[in-house]
Amino acid sequence: MSGTTTGVRIYDTLTRELREIVASDGKEVRIYCCGPTVYRDAHLGNLRTFLLSDIVRRTLEFKGHRVQLVQNITDVGHMSEDFDEDKLLAESKTTKRDPFEIAREFEAKFHKDLALLGIIPANHYPRASECIEMMHRHIEALMERGLAYLGEDKTVYFASEKFPSYGAISGNRLTDLKPGHRYEFTESGAKRFHADWALWKAAGARREMIWDSPWGPGFPGWHIECSAMSLTFLHGHVDLHIGGIDLRFPHHENERAQSNPLIDQGSNEEAVDLWLHGEHLLFEGRKMSKSAGNVVLLRDVVERGFDPLSVRFCLMENRYRSQMDLSWDSIAAADKVLDRWRSITAQAGGEKDLTPAMTSIRDEIMGYLAADLDSPRALQRLRSLEKESAIPLAEKAQLFASIDPLLGLDLTATPRSKEKKLSEEDAALLESRSKARDDRDFAESDRIRELLASRGIEVRDLPTGQEWHWI
Ligand code: AMP
Ligand code: ZN
Repeated sequence: MSGTTTGVRIYDTLTRELREIVASDGKEVRIYCCGPTVYRDAHLGNLRTFLLSDIVRRTLEFKGHRVQLVQNITDVGHMSEDFDEDKLLAESKTTKRDPFEIAREFEAKFHKDLALLGIIPANHYPRASECIEMMHRHIEALMERGLAYLGEDKTVYFASEKFPSYGAISGNRLTDLKPGHRYEFTESGAKRFHADWALWKAAGARREMIWDSPWGPGFPGWHIECSAMSLTFLHGHVDLHIGGIDLRFPHHENERAQSNPLIDQGSNEEAVDLWLHGEHLLFEGRKMSKSAGNVVLLRDVVERGFDPLSVRFCLMENRYRSQMDLSWDSIAAADKVLDRWRSITAQAGGEKDLTPAMTSIRDEIMGYLAADLDSPRALQRLRSLEKESAIPLAEKAQLFASIDPLLGLDLTATPRSKEKKLSEEDAALLESRSKARDDRDFAESDRIRELLASRGIEVRDLPTGQEWHWI
């Protein structure tokens, strides 16, 4: 493949191997991340998946590459499995509110959550409801190529059997899919083959959220939305496509079948080079979901007095490819580490350049992220650096500050502890300890060190003298 290599490798679900991310146009890495369905708050599980795109993005940018990131806002077409109804319309019925008013409210909350989690905004957040014509064009092109057909019910379906490699991402081959299996929601309709799916659905009795189309009034299917938006906003090719593991099938499988036939490069080209899937977040043992009743919002974390970035810290302490279990205890522990690391970062002097030792630790950490986003190892390295008593605080501080654009933990923020003032008594104790050490009275200097520790102050001796920080 031509293009610019990035040196960042990830596990590709399609080929089931580690592969390097490449900017295929030689300029920027084009990334598409499936966005939220905006009928409710995004929970921490959803946010784990959205954070994945930020970890990749920061890794690429830290290495000097440019990124073009698009994330869609699903405000129409995503059907609920339980009620066979548009999720937005179901919420609109329950709450007796306009569906678009609901969509705009939760879209705004989604952006707020991303900001609280230190996620750099995408370049575009196209809304499905504003891309209807784009989807019509895409569907028409599929029909022209004989890959889609209009059913007697005025719904347009994708002819799954016409796409021979269907199932390559998830392993769900057409021959294994049984009729009557509920892939996403019931679509009895006028399908020719049981695994076909709707691209454009006839309005039927539905009166809201419908649009005119060449096939009559109706609304788009959820899968076509992502094909049309990714190929349009990313100019015909996606270098990296991201989503939660549950989207592998049928969402991404269908998207691949809809997108591949429409790219120009030749019949067997993939519209998407790499498929990256994040595993689920569990909370206290079970997958976080509305139905499991264990949903936690970022708002809940803030209400309990924790820094929202402590959630980011917890999520990064686990590799994206493994399920992870979150708990209030781990959030509380991460909140403390963050504050400690900010106290260290606050000790940076005016010196900007990293020492050779710190430069090599920075490169090592960068290497962990470039190797399939091993954020847990990156954080582990910083934990061990924190404990290395021979390295002056100012040097550590410079490293923490310089690595922060990669981690997004806002380590240069004011630590809570800095708001605490050193009392006159503490200052006097520090002074006496320093003097005891100068006088080589080690018994006395150790006694005062212990006394200071009991008062929340840690003292360390370096060749340059005594250093202290809040514990
Ligand atoms: P939705 O808003 O339901 O369309 O979901 C948005 C994203 O969150 C999708 O990529 C899902 O795969 C992902 N997701 C849903 N539940 C979880 C979970 N418990 N852990 C991680 N990701 C999830
Ligand atoms: Zn999608």
